[in-house]
Amino acid sequence: MKRIISLFSIALLMIAAVSAQTKAPSESAMDRFLRYVKIDTQSAEDAGKWPSTEKQLVLARLLETELKALGVQNVRISEEGIVYGMVPGNMPDNSKVPTIGFIAHMDTSPAVSGANVNAIIHKNYQGSDIILPNDKTQVIRVDQNPDLKNLIGDDIITADGTTLLGSDDKSGIAEVMTMIDTLRNNPQIKHGNIAIAFTPDEEVGGPMDKFDIQGWGAKFAYTVDGEQLGDISNETWSARTATVTFTGKSTHPGTAKGIMINSSYAAGDFLSRFPEMVPNRPETTEGREGFIHPYSTAMSEETSTIKILLRNFDINGLAAQEEAVKRVIAETQKKYPNVKVDYKSELGYLNMKEVLKDYPQLTDYAIEAAKRAGITAELRPIRGGTDGSRLTARGLPTPNLFTGGHNFHGKLEFNSRKGLERSTETLVHLVQIWAERSK
Ligand SMILES: [Zn+2]
Repeated sequence: MKRIISLFSIALLMIAAVSAQTKAPSESAMDRFLRYVKIDTQSAEDAGKWPSTEKQLVLARLLETELKALGVQNVRISEEGIVYGMVPGNMPDNSKVPTIGFIAHMDTSPAVSGANVNAIIHKNYQGSDIILPNDKTQVIRVDQNPDLKNLIGDDIITADGTTLLGSDDKSGIAEVMTMIDTLRNNPQIKHGNIAIAFTPDEEVGGPMDKFDIQGWGAKFAYTVDGEQLGDISNETWSARTATVTFTGKSTHPGTAKGIMINSSYAAGDFLSRFPEMVPNRPETTEGREGFIHPYSTAMSEETSTIKILLRNFDINGLAAQEEAVKRVIAETQKKYPNVKVDYKSELGYLNMKEVLKDYPQLTDYAIEAAKRAGITAELRPIRGGTDGSRLTARGLPTPNLFTGGHNFHGKLEFNSRKGLERSTETLVHLVQIWAERSK
């Protein structure tokens, strides 16, 4: 025990010594973050092209310029709007350390406007509810945000109540950029080659099938796209999207007697059965519980369609969810025998745990890096997908790291100065740990 304690204190002293010697970056993560959130990068569903919105390229070009100024090599923007670059390692032999990639996404959610974001810094936060000044109905409540109690004394960053903040995922971008800056100012910190990528359209199922894994060069990667400090994820949903199509018969309403079959009634009947027949919905589930979610409808007399998200951590759970949807269809079909009902579904992505369980060092090193930055980290499944879920499925193992952010995709989104700084420190420690463990 004594020996453990003394080793532990030596380790602490060493960590303290390293931190004391670390020179600050040329610009703080906070300043970078405040610059990036001013650029509207909202993506759009069903644009039929990548990037889905031209305005994402404004941030892409700024990052291209900034990466070059930080000495990053091979910086380029792909046709789809992906920004790639490589930070060369500073080891005697970089080939002994696997190239580690970091990915953050440039777009913000289509759900809430990201135009004219007016970031507000609530200095030296003292623990009360935070009322957003330009829409006082928007309140970040302590009872709904238990992590706020850990942020007393910190500077909290929010939007003004009229837009989202864009912490998802400009926090990740600011942290990766500040990591590069910190490494550049501290050549004593040894690391291997580091691949960098900033992606468009993550929120709308972006161009990950086009991501140049080979050319990018990373053997393992991390998305920096998570939430509160300490949350590390090697599990995402397995996802299917189902489409139910109701076909009736359209005719001129003036002469429709005995002829028209209005498919919208069947679609409406189908939807109305959900609260009773499908207990697991987004609004009733949390943690590891999956859900079924009708999220988009288009109705007309002739044809009505309803799109439904099926989400489950267990791949076998998806099959049971498909059966549940078919049971609802059967009830509707009984009531509307003249309406033809078709069901189809396609696989979106798979829980990345299926692959990542074979590479435990990815999350072990990340947990150790967080610890060196003073954060107690734990593995928490993501009730969503990430760019990493799709890259992992394509053969590049990519778990997800925290950014310090909260309340993604809404007007109550926030991060904090320490959230940005500690997350950045974690990244700096992480590349060091890969170098230490790979010698
Ligand atoms: Zn995100």
